[in-house]
Amino acid sequence: MKNTVDEVFISLTDILRSEHRNIVLVTHENPDGDAIGSAIGLGEVLKNYGHDVKIAVPNAYPEFLKWFSSGIEILVYERKRNQVKNILENAQILICVDFNEPKRVARLHKKLLAFTGTKILIDHHPHPVDFCDYMISEPEYSSTAELVYDVVSRTGMEEYLNHDAAEALFAGIMTDTGSFSHNISRPNTFRVVARLMEFGIKTEKIHAAVYHNFSAHRMQLLGYTLNCKMEVFPEYRSAVMWLSLEELEKYKFKPGDIEGFVNYPLSIGNIVFCALFVEKKEYIKVSFRSKGSFPANEFSKTHFSGGGHRNAAGGEIKVSLEEAVDKFRQLLREYRHLLKETTI
Ligand code: 5GP
Ligand code: MN
Repeated sequence: MKNTVDEVFISLTDILRSEHRNIVLVTHENPDGDAIGSAIGLGEVLKNYGHDVKIAVPNAYPEFLKWFSSGIEILVYERKRNQVKNILENAQILICVDFNEPKRVARLHKKLLAFTGTKILIDHHPHPVDFCDYMISEPEYSSTAELVYDVVSRTGMEEYLNHDAAEALFAGIMTDTGSFSHNISRPNTFRVVARLMEFGIKTEKIHAAVYHNFSAHRMQLLGYTLNCKMEVFPEYRSAVMWLSLEELEKYKFKPGDIEGFVNYPLSIGNIVFCALFVEKKEYIKVSFRSKGSFPANEFSKTHFSGGGHRNAAGGEIKVSLEEAVDKFRQLLREYRHLLKETTI
């Protein structure tokens, strides 16, 4: 029989409030603000308690997530394979944050499954895969960062939460909710934010560090995408955008530059579903966003080997960019009734 949530918390309290341990926190591929914020936030608390904490991420993460006050090092597996291998071999505890299936860590996948110590998962995506010893999976949370705060609080670790942890957790909640505009279904989100503000964090500074820190090339790429690479289907209440490798290179693309692009079509009146297709070297990465009842995650799971939340999901496909976008156009026709009936 599976452990109840209370039992998991009792075990977690024992594990985290133990003598000194080597702990590695791992996030998903293409780490976003919630992944990095949750890892740093929890990492700071565990470090302040007295553990040795390292953070490992599968691949590079954007410049706009490189301003945190925390001094915890973030090791990028793609660039520091041996170092990540070593820290995993020396760790007793592995904590997975902001993802709930091993394939989300891409090339770190095998290392994760081969880890012999205690594996803990803290995440807010629906439909978790059972690959950890202890799982805190709470899809009603706005963000993993909000959940991390509650885990810290419930395991009696709040006295180790400091300014640097609060700043990182705030950034996680802020980014996963689009600056508090979506994914918020319960007052708890704002209660946690209020508590984090008590640590003296500078919320305006955090907002500017994340959202007002782009290159001119990124703004030009956004302008180009909206002007030349967006197709709107009012009859299906949908829109699609797509970018090739060549176009990205032309605008001197750096990781994180297209973050947020996918959301723009939802600002068009009566649009409830949109997608962004981006060509990578080996596959096409797709991001989906929706409003209200339209299940972007089910759509992504069924047609693009992906998943995520109902209103924000992602996936991938191994065909040409043109074929991928064409497939989407055809699917819109199939989904026309559901799209028409979508309620916000
Ligand atoms: P994004 O479009 O920003 O990459 O991702 C949106 C949401 O979908 C995130 O919550 C992310 O975790 C999830 N997601 C993105 N790509 C994938 C994927 O390939 N598989 C699954 N299961 N979820 C994804
Ligand atoms: Mn998240």
